[in-house]
Amino acid sequence: MKSSELFLKLQKRMEQYKSKVKPDNDCFYENDTSIQSIVSKYNLESFNEIMNSSYEEVDDEVNEEELKDLIHRIDNYFSLYAPDDEKFKEFIKIISIYLVFIAKKPLHPPGIRFSNGTTVYEKDDYYYCTGKKVFINDELSLCKYCIARCE
Ligand code: SF4
Repeated sequence: MKSSELFLKLQKRMEQYKSKVKPDNDCFYENDTSIQSIVSKYNLESFNEIMNSSYEEVDDEVNEEELKDLIHRIDNYFSLYAPDDEKFKEFIKIISIYLVFIAKKPLHPPGIRFSNGTTVYEKDDYYYCTGKKVFINDELSLCKYCIARCE
């Protein structure tokens, strides 16, 4: 499948959240640097990109095995931590697929600071994650498909 086709499919699947997601950042406090707030802002940013952009990148071929495996890993994560939240799982799945295969941005937002002190940042057009070398060893870790480089 071409990445342009995948993008259109994601856009279509995201339609269902249009009435539920506020299109601006007004619902967040400017100075709230909690992980939850930073992740929510990043999700909202990705949501707006998906809903309001047209596909303009190089039309890559999507690796369907990797796509399937990423979905499997997200399903596994939700089965462990939020088994009853189907709507939210679908939302996060769309965002994650978008970040990995279309936007080529990290799955966690630059600027985030995890509880173990590691972080994600951007430098010279590349993304780095200081926690990747640890988190990637978790069973079915999503880090496998994240664009952020180990630091
Ligand atoms: S490498 Fe893993 S922990 Fe780091 S941003 Fe990507 S998904 Fe998150």
